[in-house]
Amino acid sequence: MRLANDFKDQKCARCFQPMHHGSTIDAVYENSEWYHRRCLEEGKRQFAEAQKQSHLAEDSTPASSRRPSEQ
Ligand SMILES: [Zn+2]
Repeated sequence: MRLANDFKDQKCARCFQPMHHGSTIDAVYENSEWYHRRCLEEGKRQFAEAQKQSHLAEDSTPASSRRPSEQ
């Protein structure tokens, strides 16, 4: 099967390891890229963490970025 052969050559877009790793294939196709399920979940977790950090940063910016004339 062509699909299976294509898949075998794929590498994880996150860790760049072959998708066919050991005896288990636990692959997820997302955003036109192949990921190990574990890698995708780790990526999402880090993305969520980054989002949270940026929101915290936003919350702390207004006071320092506010111009004196606007007070
Ligand atoms: Zn991976």
